[in-house]
Amino acid sequence: MNYTSTRSKYTVSAAEAIVEGIAPDGGLFVPQSMPSINIEDFLTLTYKEMAIKIFELFLTDFTREEIEACVEAAYDHKFKTSNITELKHLEDFSVLELYHGKTLAFKDIALSVLPYLMKTASQKLGIKDEIVILTATSGDTGKAALEGFKDVEGTKIIVFYPSDGISDIQKRQMITQEGENTYVYGIKGNFDDAQTAVKSIFMNKQLKEKILEDGFRFSSANSINIGRLIPQIIYYVNAYVRMVGASKIKVHEPINIVVPSGNFGNILAGNYAKLIGVPIDKLICASNENAVLTEFLKTGIYDINREFRVTNSPSMDILISSNLERFLHLIGEDVKAHMTNLNLQGRYEISSMGKKSLTSYYADFTEEKETLDEIKTAYDAGYLMDTHTAVASHVFKKFNQATLNQNSTIVVSTASPFKFTKHVMQALGHNDENMNEFELLNQLSSISGLDIPHGVKDLDQSNILHGGIIEKDEIQETIEKILRCK
Ligand SMILES: *Cc1c(COP(=O)(O)O)cnc(C)c1O
Repeated sequence: MNYTSTRSKYTVSAAEAIVEGIAPDGGLFVPQSMPSINIEDFLTLTYKEMAIKIFELFLTDFTREEIEACVEAAYDHKFKTSNITELKHLEDFSVLELYHGKTLAFKDIALSVLPYLMKTASQKLGIKDEIVILTATSGDTGKAALEGFKDVEGTKIIVFYPSDGISDIQKRQMITQEGENTYVYGIKGNFDDAQTAVKSIFMNKQLKEKILEDGFRFSSANSINIGRLIPQIIYYVNAYVRMVGASKIKVHEPINIVVPSGNFGNILAGNYAKLIGVPIDKLICASNENAVLTEFLKTGIYDINREFRVTNSPSMDILISSNLERFLHLIGEDVKAHMTNLNLQGRYEISSMGKKSLTSYYADFTEEKETLDEIKTAYDAGYLMDTHTAVASHVFKKFNQATLNQNSTIVVSTASPFKFTKHVMQALGHNDENMNEFELLNQLSSISGLDIPHGVKDLDQSNILHGGIIEKDEIQETIEKILRCK
């Protein structure tokens, strides 16, 4: 199976796609065709066995042994359970908790395996250069990528986060990062600024050639890398099978999934899962007040000419959803033309054919106040969720009111409530202005009776090892400085 750019006929193997991260034309790699599975073959498998099977379908240039080694290395005690994820059944829906990895967000699942996939891929290709991972983060990717690549031989990782756009806990997680090969910078700007700047570095031919002479090459740990998306397909297969196991559905019965979305990576992995044969009916895309995706999926018009909002679900504060490009490719749109328009006018509109393909999605958004109310309602009914999950849970209510769809539904939970403590505590009516996020952690733990997860416990005692804040036009300079002082 080969991978082709969304913007041209440029085609590479899976190993090359993972190492390159993004195509030279600025496009994203997508599978040339979709493999297919019979869900019945998965009913008795463990998470790791499923992972191996799915990777074999997508990474056809990897040997079985290579895939097994990657899966074994990634999915171990770093996760709280050997199931990797947890599936809880509430009254109206099931919750797929994807946050039981080291950094308490769903990105751990893909980012614990990506470094191994990348190392294996670069060895297969005979690459001797050091791989420099450039990452723009809205808060969670950065930490998960830092943990994944920390001290991985032959790699460096440089993370850029919006200096005022992330929670105290997220920031603290990153600036206390250990590892000889890790670099962390705050940038004065929002996530879109960081992501756009990093993307432009990937497309800067001169810089790429210059660093190659010194034995470096760039790659990406953002969901623009196909090596991030494929691991995310696995948990949808796994969740479906567990729904069957829990007698919530009969095998082959369709389900809906609700995904709190920002860069559109997680829900696109759900779409891929559906395409390979997981019985998924509606893909429900939940946004916060930065509701570009809601508007797009309802109208076929993508328009970023609007105010960027900093919300209480900051990991979804995004206006330029990178992975939507892969969806446009999937439905046969002229991606290159749309991306040019997006660049020039901040807007594009898909074809009338394309608009017909939007019906497999339902989309809506949740306002900040609704998000807090949702947390409170769920908590009173016995379940504690974070703000991102609450966005999804509330959109599911709107979906229920708007449609007659009766399928069983999985709401995807992307972060631990202990990662966004301030807003969660606010929702529960504990608005103590004098307490910092770390004091609130203790309080949340004592009122909920849940233990503070390992990833944030004692975080305020850890040494600060990074702290640089730069202007958004200093990213290139910063990278060059890091690579020169080898
Ligand atoms: C990254 C993130 C999202 C958004 O996921 P996408 O794949 O970018 O759509 C949602 N919630 C949390 C907690 C995240 O970290």
